[in-house]
Amino acid sequence: MGNRVFNFSAGPAVLPLPVLEKAQQEMLDFQGCGMSVMEMSHRSKPFEGVLAKADQGLRNLLGISEDYAVLFLQGGASMQFAMVPMNLYEEGKPVDVIHTGAWTKKAIEEIQNLASMRYAANMAPEKYMRLPKAEELDFNPDASYVHMCSNNTIFGTQWRWYPDTGQVPLVADMSSDILSHPVDVSKFGLIFAGAQKNAGPAGVTIVIIRKDLAERVKATVPTMLRYKIHIENNSLYNTPPCYPIYIVSLVTEWLEGLGGLQAMEKINQDKAKILYDAIDTTDFYYCPVNKEDRSTMNVVFRIQGNNEELEAQFIKEATQTGLSGLKGHRSVGGLRASIYNAHPVEGVQALASFMKDFEKKNG
Ligand code: PMP
Repeated sequence: MGNRVFNFSAGPAVLPLPVLEKAQQEMLDFQGCGMSVMEMSHRSKPFEGVLAKADQGLRNLLGISEDYAVLFLQGGASMQFAMVPMNLYEEGKPVDVIHTGAWTKKAIEEIQNLASMRYAANMAPEKYMRLPKAEELDFNPDASYVHMCSNNTIFGTQWRWYPDTGQVPLVADMSSDILSHPVDVSKFGLIFAGAQKNAGPAGVTIVIIRKDLAERVKATVPTMLRYKIHIENNSLYNTPPCYPIYIVSLVTEWLEGLGGLQAMEKINQDKAKILYDAIDTTDFYYCPVNKEDRSTMNVVFRIQGNNEELEAQFIKEATQTGLSGLKGHRSVGGLRASIYNAHPVEGVQALASFMKDFEKKNG
């Protein structure tokens, strides 16, 4: 493994070592083509194979039916904040938003530019430290769609169940927990995720969309921003992000080798438990997030009294011992350990043990 650190970055984030090694092996000569995936036409047979493998890999892992298209787009999850209302908003039918943090706020800003909206729930007054309960959700049966974020990367909350929105399509930003556990895709109208946390490198955004919803789009929407065009062209309307798609295909292969998403979920729960136990068993650290809603992907914690000086020292010393990327998001401060699928259990154990030592010295 050489000098690789334990990488707790929130994204772009750690990738599975076997994926990086396979990419390294195939870098100069992809399957006898005499060139890398970066150098070949996106309309060539070998690349067709790469694209098909990424598509099939996601379909197998998530049990995606033929009613849905799997798209590989650019522009990040942030582009989806605008693209979703551009394609799915129907005049006079406000979008319902379950507002749970900074990333739904970004989505709201785009929705408000293009459509009308209302809150199905608004967790801002509680500083996003918990998720709404089913009985707190107030849905409009006549909404164009419902927008939610399945895992709030910055605040460290994660949905353990998904709301039943009836006939109204549910749209989920799954950027920071896609492929971390099984999901019943048939409950959603659209799922999107920037790949750079759990699914691959930055540069490709995965969109899973129920095909009939793509028909809603108006002719005034620019071509590149229409899901319908990308569906008709199998993500090849223009040059797609070829290399990131290739890495996604390797990540899906790696997940299948592990035993799929159920196996991955168990590993993620075990890893998260190690850290939450380390936080909860002492008064030195605390986790501000409501217990039931704590994320298995982004473990947010602080040192008692929100001691920023000590937190800065924690980050500095942790980095020196090979534990990288533990700074909380710039908007909230504190500490955050992002432990996506590819983060090894050894990294989590090393962090828990570092936390104990740090407390001994400074507690
Ligand atoms: N949604 C969530 C939940 C995120 O965590 C992020 C990025 N951290 C985004 C959206 C924005 O993604 P991108 O940078 O790909 O636009």
